[in-house]
Amino acid sequence: MEQKRDIDEFEIPFAQRTYLRNTNSTFLKKLLIFSPFLFLLFSLTILFFYGKKEIFPLNNFYLKTEINQDPRVLGHLPYKEISEEKLVFIEPNIEVHIDMRDSLLKMREEARKDGIYLVFLSGYRSINLQKDIFYSLKSIRNQNAAERARVSAPPGYSEHSTGFAIDIGDATQRETDFETEFENTEAFKWLMKNAAKFHFKLSFNKNNKFIDYEPWHWRYEGSIEALKVFENSNRNL
Ligand SMILES: [Zn+2]
Repeated sequence: MEQKRDIDEFEIPFAQRTYLRNTNSTFLKKLLIFSPFLFLLFSLTILFFYGKKEIFPLNNFYLKTEINQDPRVLGHLPYKEISEEKLVFIEPNIEVHIDMRDSLLKMREEARKDGIYLVFLSGYRSINLQKDIFYSLKSIRNQNAAERARVSAPPGYSEHSTGFAIDIGDATQRETDFETEFENTEAFKWLMKNAAKFHFKLSFNKNNKFIDYEPWHWRYEGSIEALKVFENSNRNL
């Protein structure tokens, strides 16, 4: 309790009193001396937290790198299955994404005007159907998965499940259906010259090191949804 009393209550010599009164100002002096250091410390603290913020884009970079890591399985990119309400029949047994229907039919019509008869072989395929194709043919042909994947996508990795892929043949040379020889048909030559006008593109060209060349397999890139679906593929991962 005594410590709390004012120093005036005590008998203290004058010089000593001055000293005691000056303790406050010595504190201020010390503060002044140390203020640059305190300021430095303060600045460093701010920089530290600001630096943390700067690290976030770096984190994003690492995150992106992870995302950008090749998601392919046996050379095929993953594709989601299209929702049913976006599918339309263009033939009794062929369904496609509604976005590409008009363009696809127009392409066939224009080809016909040039004396070329395109035939549609396969459009949308469900992941389940792809499962059947991939695994049953695998056992029949006595191929391992990697060999099989050169000619057929594993389930969940087929462009056909998006509804934006179409396999095309030449109606006058059906023996070339799904064969590399399709590239020698008039239909293929016509497609190479004209398909881009209708926003169709050859998916698996000769440069693909994982998947065999498929001259019959075309995909549609004429809508935002289609472009989004094939963005990774076009980025050449
Ligand atoms: Zn195909």
